[in-house]
Amino acid sequence: MDFLHAQLAAIQHRLAFVQEDPIDWRTYVLVFSWGICFFESYLLLRQYPLYSKPAPPAVLADHFSPEVFNKSQKYGKHKAKFSIVSGLYKQFIDTLQLASGVYYPWVWTVSGQLLGRAGYGPEYLVCLKIGSICFLLTFISTLPTLPLGLYQTFVLEEQHGFNKTTLSLYFADMLKGWALGVFLGTPLLTAFLYIFEWAGDRFVPWVMMLLFVFRVPCLSHAYFLLRLIFQLSMIVLYPTIIQPLFNKLSPLPEGELRTRIEALASKLKFPLKHLYEIDGSKRSSHSNAYFFGLPWSKHIVIFDTLIKQSRPEEVEAVLAHELGHWYYLHPTKLLFVSQLHLFTILALFPAFLNAPPLLRSFGFPESVAARPPPIIAFLLYQMVLTPLEAIVGMALNAVSRRFEYQADRFACELPSILHAESAEEKEAMKDMGTRLGRALIGLHVENLSTVWVDWLYSAYHHSHPTLTERLKVLGEHGSEGLGKAE
Ligand SMILES: [Zn+2]
Repeated sequence: MDFLHAQLAAIQHRLAFVQEDPIDWRTYVLVFSWGICFFESYLLLRQYPLYSKPAPPAVLADHFSPEVFNKSQKYGKHKAKFSIVSGLYKQFIDTLQLASGVYYPWVWTVSGQLLGRAGYGPEYLVCLKIGSICFLLTFISTLPTLPLGLYQTFVLEEQHGFNKTTLSLYFADMLKGWALGVFLGTPLLTAFLYIFEWAGDRFVPWVMMLLFVFRVPCLSHAYFLLRLIFQLSMIVLYPTIIQPLFNKLSPLPEGELRTRIEALASKLKFPLKHLYEIDGSKRSSHSNAYFFGLPWSKHIVIFDTLIKQSRPEEVEAVLAHELGHWYYLHPTKLLFVSQLHLFTILALFPAFLNAPPLLRSFGFPESVAARPPPIIAFLLYQMVLTPLEAIVGMALNAVSRRFEYQADRFACELPSILHAESAEEKEAMKDMGTRLGRALIGLHVENLSTVWVDWLYSAYHHSHPTLTERLKVLGEHGSEGLGKAE
């Protein structure tokens, strides 16, 4: 422990300049966020012409009718146009907020005034202050982007036949999201900031422990704070409390699919406790399957849309891929990487905790900047991190792609992994890769996913390899018949 603290102290010492030098952090954030915005637009411009290609790649030619291919190209083009416009629009709003130099100080003042009016003076709980500032920031940032969200769901997705949600469901989800953010995020952030006060320089291991309990899976984007609140997924609470707020989980009925999956799980000694079907189709017809739970008791969830679109033996192959993730400990490895990432973020934070120049550069008055409130320091710190997060996000995508290939290979190699001896057993599993390929193609066609993908665009945005890449590798593992007509 002392070694760790000595290292952390050395880092703080190196970063001491943050607390003294009048660095113009706001300009730095502006320049870098525009840099990222231009890079993302450039990627879209690389990808855009591919939506005008007249035919799918050879490996997919037999699976796409010209009609479906055209639909997929149109859908992709529409999404790309929307991304360019919405990306620039959001960047413009962010720039206005930053460049005005009054927005963040204003939110801080207003949240104080609101609490004051409600009868809570400055001596009141930090918790209230944090809750109100988070609520205000979320509320205000939702307003300008609300039309974008509505357009995306009720025009874009609707036109291409994917939207299943209604206006009332959409707003109900939004309100539930806010309520969750306030009720879960506020205590977490408060605990986080109390630990700073209580543990002083020795806070890092304590905060790591806190966040480990409240496992935070996705830290790879901007607005770390807001994502922290909204993407907060707890091992136990998420599936039991949060997921049921949005979707209905019901036990998968008895039948061929259930028998197949149970048999596969028991052969792999996967500790399957419950097998659920989720009504994903309530909101969208995009489909998926996943597992969750504690190491000794796991639950598998399959989207009703996947079950409807694919044959039982194909869904089984999708599950074989998912169980490959479990077999190779991918979730645990990703958890480790995300903890390491989090550790780095936290280890650098103290340098920004008492840094008046940071607050001054964002327009806070001297009275606030001289003794920075931790919540403001944290908020500004995660804005400073934004450019780094884009790079980390790309690295995490690279890791995740490797894992996807590994899970695909697992499905192909099931007979040898399970040491299948009887001819019957071998026969039952030998074409798993082919079935997986067919299921992937089926999902791709059904979701009108993009067929032609630029490699750089994909490396930056996607956590999964493209369909063409996956089919190629499945073929190399001996899966037959994927490139030909059935
Ligand atoms: Zn996967």
